[in-house]
Order: sequence, then C-alpha cells, then structure tokens
Amino acid sequence: MMSSARSRANAFAALELDRASELREDAAWLAAHAQAPQARFVLLDPDGRALLSADRGSLVQFDGNSCARLAPGAASSFLGRSGEADHFALALDDGAAARAMAETGAAFADLRSAGAGLPAFDAGLFAYARGLAHWQQRTRFCPACAAPLRLEAGGHRAKCTNPQCGIAHFPRTDPAVIVIVSDGDRCLLGRGPQWPERRYSTLAGFVEPGETLEDAVRREVLEEAGVRVGECDYHSSQPWPFPASIMLGFTAHADDATITLGTELAEARWFGAEELVDGIRSGALGISSPLSVSYKLIEHWLRETAAIDLADIVASPVGVKG
Ligand SMILES: [Zn+2]
Repeated sequence: MMSSARSRANAFAALELDRASELREDAAWLAAHAQAPQARFVLLDPDGRALLSADRGSLVQFDGNSCARLAPGAASSFLGRSGEADHFALALDDGAAARAMAETGAAFADLRSAGAGLPAFDAGLFAYARGLAHWQQRTRFCPACAAPLRLEAGGHRAKCTNPQCGIAHFPRTDPAVIVIVSDGDRCLLGRGPQWPERRYSTLAGFVEPGETLEDAVRREVLEEAGVRVGECDYHSSQPWPFPASIMLGFTAHADDATITLGTELAEARWFGAEELVDGIRSGALGISSPLSVSYKLIEHWLRETAAIDLADIVASPVGVKG
C-alpha cells in the first residue's frame, strides 16, 4: 500500500473536499453562497464540540437562514465545496449552542469521543472545522504588537489591525512525529506516566525548529527510551486537531536496542508479536484507540512481522482505550 492510501485510511483523513482557497478572497461570493440553499454549516460550541444527531451518527448541519436566526451577525468560516454543497463552520457562544440543542434535539459532542462513529466525510469535516475554530479562538491579538486581529479570507487569515504593523497570521498546525521502532521481531512501545498500567503506545513528539522529520524521530526515541534509531521511513499522516497537530507516522529500525528510560515515559519495552497479540486478546494489555496513528502503526507492524490482522484480535473494545 502506498503512503497516500495509508493516510486515507486514518481517522479524520478521508475528507474529499475542494477547499477552493481561491474563493476565500471573494467576500461577495462567500456572502451570497452562505445564504444560498446549498450552504451547509457545521455548528461548534465554545469547546470545539460539534452538533451531532441524537445517535451521534452524523453532523447536524444548518443552512444560512437557520444560522442567521440562531446567531445573528456571527461570522462563519468557509471550509470548501463538495458536489453541490458549500461547507461553512459557525462557532457559537454558549447561548446559541443551547438554542441549537433545544431546536434540534441534538447534542454537541467532542471529536475524540464521537469521531469513530461518524462517516469519514463528517469526521474529516469536523476535524477541519474544529482545528480552524480553535486557532481563531486562541489567536485574537497580534503576537508581534498585541493589537486586535481581524479575521479575513473566509476565516483563514487574521490581519493585525495596527496600521504600523499589519502582519497577517495564518492557521497553525504543529507537526508531531509518531513512530513504531522495530528490532528484529520485536517492537518498541511506551507508557506515559498518567496512563493506566499495561497500556502502551508508539513513541511520539513534536518536531522542533530547524529539524527534519527523520531527525525528530531519532531524537524523540533516544530521549524517551534511549534507543538509537537508524533507518526510518514515512508511513502516513493524520490531522489531529487536539488542538492543532498533524501526526506524521513513521516506521524505524533500531541500531542499538538498549533501553535507557528518559523522563517522559513511565515505561518503555520491547514486545514480540505473540506477547502483544495475547495481551490485547485477553485484555491484559491495552493499546491506543483505533482513531490514532499509533494503532495503525501497530497494525502495520503486526501485519508485516507476523502476518496478523489486528482487526481480528480487537474484536471487542476490551483493553483498547482512547
Ligand atoms: Zn501587529
């Protein structure tokens, strides 16, 4: 499988949407299309949760008239186009969010808890809207001169209102690498200090300024587990708007498998495929949620190393926690 197909199989990563960035600068087009019958608004509450149907099986999307009634004067953001529909996001205050729930009988839910139950398009659109709204909410004043910012370009640019400054700020996405390191027929997993006993994940960390992705992989594994990584290869990527990351998945091989635990993890261990499978199956050992790249990397490793399909052994949610 190619990396593009692997990425598409990740949660929140199957959003077949034309972002139509060229239309963001056309305020007249945006205003007209936001009011047109084909407009679809994702509604978000102040915590970045989206309005979902009562069974949590889909986004509840409003048209422009309903939005104008619900939150008069509120600015929406343009997300893009799919088929006949033009997609927007509308961030609501607490009062408008309560009215939306009362009007529809639906409820707001967080992406992390509800994402797995949504169709791929809805999950991807939710992730996109959540990430953009979070950036807007937390980017209100210019980091250079502290003057208020004004959103423009359909919500995709924040312009400093100080004429002496005038810097444009753009939505931020923080790259984080996540890696499954192998040594022969073993793989390296770690447990964070606040995680339950016997729950493990692949190692991960943020990319630093002036660093390649491969060097970030080597540094993080060395810092967290003391293991020296040689070759590493890109696996897949995933939007991870909790609040503003993109996860960049890698596979890697250890040059020196000796573990020297750093300060970030409570535990780091090598697992053989058999021990991993038995532990997951019995519930004695937990791994990351199927929403995560960590799960996909473990799935990939088991398939490559032992020809085992993780889906076959994660039949029940026992041992698999978000
Ligand atoms: Zn400024």
